[in-house]
Amino acid sequence: MHSIAGPARFEVPSGRAVTVIGAGLVGLSCAWLLVRRGHAVLLLDGCEPARRPSGGDPLGERGSEAALGVLMARVFHRSSGRGWRLRQRSLELWGAWRRELAARGRPIPWRPGLLLLAAEASDLTRQQLLLHDPRRQQGDAAGQALQHWDPQRLRQLEPVVPAAALGGLYSPQDGQLDPCAAMDALALDAAAAGMERRSERVAALERCSSGWRLRLCSGASLECEWLVLAAGLGSTALLPGELQPPPPRLEPVLGQALELELDPCDRPAPGGGWPGAVVWRGINLIQRPPAADADAAPWRLWLGATLEPGQEASAGALESLRDLAGEAPDWLRRARLCRHWQGLRARPQGQPAPLLQDLGNGLLLAAGHYRNGVLLAPASAEWVAERIEAGRGAT
Ligand SMILES: Cc1cc2nc3c(=O)[nH]c(=O)nc-3n(C[C@H](O)[C@H](O)[C@H](O)COP(=O)(O)OP(=O)(O)OC[C@H]3O[C@@H](n4cnc5c(N)ncnc54)[C@H](O)[C@@H]3O)c2cc1C
Repeated sequence: MHSIAGPARFEVPSGRAVTVIGAGLVGLSCAWLLVRRGHAVLLLDGCEPARRPSGGDPLGERGSEAALGVLMARVFHRSSGRGWRLRQRSLELWGAWRRELAARGRPIPWRPGLLLLAAEASDLTRQQLLLHDPRRQQGDAAGQALQHWDPQRLRQLEPVVPAAALGGLYSPQDGQLDPCAAMDALALDAAAAGMERRSERVAALERCSSGWRLRLCSGASLECEWLVLAAGLGSTALLPGELQPPPPRLEPVLGQALELELDPCDRPAPGGGWPGAVVWRGINLIQRPPAADADAAPWRLWLGATLEPGQEASAGALESLRDLAGEAPDWLRRARLCRHWQGLRARPQGQPAPLLQDLGNGLLLAAGHYRNGVLLAPASAEWVAERIEAGRGAT
């Protein structure tokens, strides 16, 4: 069992000792929830806590730092099954987590609302089906139900959305949160509650009588009763070869994103009505939170992200993103490039994302979140906590 420095403030008699590998948003969410529920948590990660994308970025190992933070749950194209349930639960948990963290002085910036634009008539038909789906209206507070925005309503938005938009589905409950701020809030709050964090890269996992032995790249080793493998793309390399059936491998899908600043002459009037995220043909446009002096602050937005199988960035994909495949409004074409970054997503081969699997002997896999790790982090953490609390061997 690992040793935890200092008493865990919320320790309860039934608390377990849990080691979490990976301090991306999924690993941090698991660590935070576990420590809040009374478990003693050791978080290990091979890279330093605050490696943030900055101008002209190299490829970072932590996908969460590249993410745009769009939470797309209510407009998900299915209305049943595991994917639907995880998304709805996660959206609900993010609301509760944000309130809890804010109450302890760690607010996570949240921009509510998501507008899914229809580029084709078939998009409009699909949106009508979602609009009239009773599961999406159930339990919604007043003013929280999905809405159809017609072209006339779209024309009121400033800056303007692509002229080819035929209409849109507006979801007040979806939106965007800042993934780096979320990671900071979870890390600080978990540390304050007794979580121990070490900068250690794990080289290999081996079964042992107490559970799992971790061989660390520093040469040390560590035994643990419960182990959560949330190392994103790095998870595949750590999975012991003898597992039956062998868990699916994870493959990289690269994403590029941009931060742009509007030309002062294109600056929209205050209250231009943009929701947290606008989505056009799968591309997210996200207004950055205004600075304290909103009137003087430049109007910036994030644009992304490309979907490029593999680890090599393509200049063509970036160009197409930059001008919305030839459909960018003039203000977007004139906008100044401030920042370009890229990151990798982990896509499970042959299985739906994410991989939430109990691999036996106290080893839980929480990885392969592909395009929705920010959204799905809380529901993944809840699954992990419930498995641990149910005990080994529980089904
Ligand atoms: C450009 C881009 C945009 C995105 N936009 C969105 C979005 O809008 N909404 C959304 O929900 N999702 C989005 N995603 C997806 C999201 O970023 C991922 O699904 C999510 O970040 C996965 O989190 P994670 O914690 O599993 O992995 P990661 O964030 O990659 O973290 C894995 C961690 O494990 C550590 N690690 C790896 N191997 C080892 C080892 N051997 N020992 C110790 N530590 C190790 C790494 O250092 C890393 O810190 C986007 C992704 C990209 C690339």
